Amino acid sequence: MKLPPLDYACPTSLAEAVGLLASHDGEAKLLAGGQSLVPMLAFRLASPALLVDLRKLPDLRRIAIDSGAVTLGAMVRWRDILGHPQLPAAHPLLARAVEQVAHYQIRNRGTVGGSLAHADPAAELPCIAVTCEASIVAHGQAGQRTIAAADFFHGPLMTALKSDEIVTEIRFPAWPAQRRSGFCEFARRRGDFALAGVAVFFDDDNGKAAHVHVGALGVADTPLRLGAVEKVLEGKPIDDKAIAGAEAAASAAVDPPDDIHSTGAYRKTLLGVMVERALRSAL
Ligand SMILES: Cc1cc2nc3c(=O)[nH]c(=O)nc-3n(C[C@H](O)[C@H](O)[C@H](O)COP(=O)(O)OP(=O)(O)OC[C@H]3O[C@@H](n4cnc5c(N)ncnc54)[C@H](O)[C@@H]3O)c2cc1C
Repeated sequence: MKLPPLDYACPTSLAEAVGLLASHDGEAKLLAGGQSLVPMLAFRLASPALLVDLRKLPDLRRIAIDSGAVTLGAMVRWRDILGHPQLPAAHPLLARAVEQVAHYQIRNRGTVGGSLAHADPAAELPCIAVTCEASIVAHGQAGQRTIAAADFFHGPLMTALKSDEIVTEIRFPAWPAQRRSGFCEFARRRGDFALAGVAVFFDDDNGKAAHVHVGALGVADTPLRLGAVEKVLEGKPIDDKAIAGAEAAASAAVDPPDDIHSTGAYRKTLLGVMVERALRSAL
């Protein structure tokens, strides 16, 4: 189907973009890469009065890596992350997850801010954001605020953003060089949203895992931190026994519903397998 009738604006400053959102009181939508929004318009799942295109806001394309953080502007595309000379080394877990996002054409246009705001429970970036305790920066009429990723995702396509707020950047805490990490997901076809996926990282403390972080996608309404799995692994050597315990704890920690793609029971089992594979790949 063709898009519904709507007005279009292409602001050249953040203040102008925020002003347009505020003056339309929830009836305006931001356009970033258009990879999720345009299909939603075509299917009439969204019908805003105004599209506010973010493409003329170059500050939102910033990538910064320093001793404290890895910062990605909202208009950074998947391909910018994968093609950046330092980023895959500066944040290997992020890069490994982004490699799994969709297909080449979608990675060519889809953006960080669009993915966060769209809040698909099976999307990779929201899971990495929650797992890594990232902070999401938003600008609205009331000014700037920083939202912890753990508080940002409220449900499928629902976030903490107010109707006049624009995601401007996401900040990941700096990544220690020796940190180990793994990312594993399972989709029925390459490029589809995954049925389940797992991100894991830990530091090596004399052969024992420290600062264990485990996150999951595709098994609940939002990305999850799997605290029960972290508890099983923290302070232990990551051996076969620990991995088996983590696999069982992951399956027990979630209760996904049946849907058209799989049963909930299948997803529970799959999540455990993803934990096992992610841990082995981290080793
Ligand atoms: C066939 C297909 C397969 C896909 N597979 C995957 C996949 O495996 N993994 C995955 O993660 N994604 C997948 N995607 C989605 C893709 O990654 C999109 O890039 C992403 O979800 C949205 O980014 P976008 O820049 O295209 O946003 P848009 O489509 O432009 O916008 C999406 C939503 O975010 C809002 N928005 C955009 N930017 C901002 C901002 N800065 N601040 C506030 N709100 C904003 C828009 O108003 C809209 O509501 C897939 C998409 C398709 C079509």
